[in-house]
Amino acid sequence: MAAESPAMRRVQVAEHPRLLKLKEMFNSKFGSIPKFYVRAPGRVNVIGEHIDYCGYSVLPMAIEQDVLIAVEPVKTYTLQLANTNPLYPDFSTSANNIQIDKTKALWHNYFLCGLKGIQEHFGLSNLTGMNCLVDGNIPPSSGLSSSSALVCCAGLVTLTVLGRNLSKVELAEICAKSEPYIGTEGGGMDQSISFLAEEGTAKLIEFSPLRATDVKLPSGAVFVIANSCVEMNKAATSHFNIRMMECRLAAKLLAKYKNLQWDNVLRLEEVQAKLGISLEEMLLVTEDEICRCLGISLEELRTQILSPNTQGGTGGRRLWYFLEKPANKM
Ligand code: ADP
Ligand code: MG
Repeated sequence: MAAESPAMRRVQVAEHPRLLKLKEMFNSKFGSIPKFYVRAPGRVNVIGEHIDYCGYSVLPMAIEQDVLIAVEPVKTYTLQLANTNPLYPDFSTSANNIQIDKTKALWHNYFLCGLKGIQEHFGLSNLTGMNCLVDGNIPPSSGLSSSSALVCCAGLVTLTVLGRNLSKVELAEICAKSEPYIGTEGGGMDQSISFLAEEGTAKLIEFSPLRATDVKLPSGAVFVIANSCVEMNKAATSHFNIRMMECRLAAKLLAKYKNLQWDNVLRLEEVQAKLGISLEEMLLVTEDEICRCLGISLEELRTQILSPNTQGGTGGRRLWYFLEKPANKM
């Protein structure tokens, strides 16, 4: 499935109330009819929080909520974006000169990330223009990856307008690389599941190389996703990037301590792979390095610094949250 391009199908717009509404709004906005519609889902992650950017595998599944875009390619070089949600203002720019301002977490910049990723992949300096009306129903900044759904949807819109083809894996990799143009780094889980998800199954997502394996859920299993209504806008704050940089620094320090070529190392999983050790052994390496830095014994680290539920031994050994077991080893 992963080697395939995203599915395309013909639908009767009149039979789909959301599409029909979007078509009507598009017509009143741009005075024309959309040529096609593209959708990309949000996701919920079942196992493996904040470990994709350490190179470890995760277990997400897509949710019904998605980003849907109505599109009309135009002969000019102008890109016009509108949104069904009045909170997101109209935007227009030349498709030949895509600029993404990292200092402003504006909604249209997510679209531009997807567009730019595809543009760069094909080495295109100019693109045909298009009119797009975006309709999303993923609660934003709630951890369900509305941003990646928008980036992925924009990437697929651009690919379709160009009349080109890419596999789902290629699209996921391109969008994972281009979403950080907004200023928020990431590990690639969100874009991967948005493209690789299939109905009725969660996916074990592994990296380097990117691959997705079905994890069938027990029949009748119901997942309730509660919205606390507390928002965390990743691009407007530095919390997410701080966590990522902490993990990156930890990977580099461990690599240096173990006499590895540390300057190119970015992820903890790379350190583990280079050392050829298990995750449990990685935890011991981490404890050793902390003891060496602080000039204390392992006993002192465990009894005087770590709390009971972060200490070694049997059960919940979780020295650092980012060294949790990868989903496939549970
Ligand atoms: P999330 O956890 O939902 O990915 P982020 O903070 O990464 O949260 O991204 C949220 C941002 O994505 C919003 O502030 C907005 O800029 C953009 N976004 C999400 N949904 C939409 C939408 N329907 N239309 C336009 N922009 C959207
Ligand atoms: Mg996001």
